[in-house]
Amino acid sequence: MTSSRSTSSAYRGRFAPSPTGPLHFGSLVAAVGSYLEARSRHGKWFVRIENLDPLREVPGASDEILSMLDVLGMEWDGEVVYQNQRHTLYKAALTTLERQHFIYACTCSRKEIADSTIMGIDGPVYPGTCRGVSLHKGRPGAKRLRTDNQPIEFSDALQGRFRQRLDSAIGDFVLQRADGVFAYQLAVVVDDAEQGVTHVVRGEDLLNSTPRQIYLQQLLGYPIPSYLHLPVVVNASGEKLSKQTRAARINVSDPVRQLIKAIRFLGQRPPSELINENIASFWKWATENWKQEMIPRKTAEIC
Ligand code: GLU
Ligand code: ZN
Repeated sequence: MTSSRSTSSAYRGRFAPSPTGPLHFGSLVAAVGSYLEARSRHGKWFVRIENLDPLREVPGASDEILSMLDVLGMEWDGEVVYQNQRHTLYKAALTTLERQHFIYACTCSRKEIADSTIMGIDGPVYPGTCRGVSLHKGRPGAKRLRTDNQPIEFSDALQGRFRQRLDSAIGDFVLQRADGVFAYQLAVVVDDAEQGVTHVVRGEDLLNSTPRQIYLQQLLGYPIPSYLHLPVVVNASGEKLSKQTRAARINVSDPVRQLIKAIRFLGQRPPSELINENIASFWKWATENWKQEMIPRKTAEIC
């Protein structure tokens, strides 16, 4: 793990798509925002495919995402990391937490949890039913992490101060499902630390997850990266663009047009002549003229 993070050349960013489909305009914005934050500071930019859940992975989607990035002229550093090849790392982190008695096995059904009367910001708050049950080897169930009432606070580079109490907003959360699949919250923290990521730039829909990740970083003794949560793209009905809302794949036969649209969405003001330029000239302009302070905070609609 790299330890020196003080100079701008030590900037290490990443783009971490889930391979549930090809890039759509929402994921393009996250890719472009993280890329320009990194490259404008002469930093590194890594790509990590978040394919933890084999049931959600769409065959061919990872390769498609990577070839789209390639056509868009977005060059990543090092090898692409695939989460499905890193179970040993996640298991080791879970074991560390188990040794510290932060983990317990939960055998509650989805229905029992849904019946919890308390709603949190991300679904029902787990009422802690299985907390007292000891975790002896082989007890089946999901592995949950104990939370407490200490507020987690951080300053997002765009969204400002953010504060959350995990016990009331989220509850004890799952790090490994009963079927063995590791949770996004655990894997993302292990990978960001293992890859030496200093700056996380991603969509604002993940702002609510950040306190869970900071909590895990604290427990595991990892450095806490800087966070910047970009505005998310919504469709005309106000839904976040995603595979579920049937967001259209971006048309990479006209990459510069797509890229200009993405940086405009991020508040940049490219000159109109840029549309006639090639990809290399686009990136040169975009990197040299990138202004973080122009990114709008609010979720914005795209037609
Ligand atoms: N894989 C997550 C997604 O596609 C992003 C995770 C992250 O950037 O932390 O929504
Ligand atoms: Zn339970």
